[in-house]
Amino acid sequence: MQIGCHGSVWTGQFDTAGVQLAIAKTAEAGFDLIEIPLMDPDQADLSAVRRALASSGLAVTASLGLSEHTDVSSDDPVVVAAGEHLLNRCLEALSEIGGTHLVGVIYSAMRKYMTPATPLNRKHSIEAIRRLADRAAELGIRLGVEVVNRYESNLLNTSRQAVAYVEETGTDNLIVHLDTYHMNIEEPDMFTPVLTAGSRLGYVHIGESHRGYLGSGTVDFDSFFRALATVQYDGPIVFESFSSAIVHPDLSNMLGIWRNLWTDGEDLGRHANSFIRNQLATVSSIQMH
Ligand code: MN
Repeated sequence: MQIGCHGSVWTGQFDTAGVQLAIAKTAEAGFDLIEIPLMDPDQADLSAVRRALASSGLAVTASLGLSEHTDVSSDDPVVVAAGEHLLNRCLEALSEIGGTHLVGVIYSAMRKYMTPATPLNRKHSIEAIRRLADRAAELGIRLGVEVVNRYESNLLNTSRQAVAYVEETGTDNLIVHLDTYHMNIEEPDMFTPVLTAGSRLGYVHIGESHRGYLGSGTVDFDSFFRALATVQYDGPIVFESFSSAIVHPDLSNMLGIWRNLWTDGEDLGRHANSFIRNQLATVSSIQMH
């Protein structure tokens, strides 16, 4: 099982120097994997990133949220095509650096919608994601749809919805991506959604209720990790945290990161790495399966 860290713990800039810094810091904090936000796949020199990854020994994944201009659930086929084009470029960039998973809000825009998703929105999204999952399979990359809260998408807010969506695509290369921060807002508890996703669960984000230090908010991590053990989850587990101390202009504003939850990313990262490993050690000691 790989324990990872989202790049936004270290920097808001994902040009070559920013990614290199994030890789070095992630390895230093004891993680196995780095997740790079890939809002712009042409921002960094991919061969330099590949070399930095090789010398760090880290595995790599990437994530993004689509914008209103690249929303694959849009009514407008031109916008859908733009989204599909961007995601294909992300897949190629990730393949160049040896990445294993492309995840996030890739099935709609990552924003507050003012109306519910229509059947046409859902159809456009599923058709595009089905094609992308096939392309990802050719590159040896798994594609994951991240279940997020109602203020960040109108399409997938619960594990149950994500399972239905994935089943509708009919592809095995599409996985459910759960995030404890979002689950804490939308789900009935932290245990059953993991069982609902079952073997379709392929990617996990660990975030606290206010996106700060793990254990300092209201997320019931004990139940969540017991559920992971129950379904014998063995995919990546990635720590995600945001503070206004580290600002990526698009991402921070979209996610509503207005407060300073922490200033010392190194301390936060080391703490999260040991928090996650301790939770896994605890559940494995009681042999849930
Ligand atoms: Mn997340």
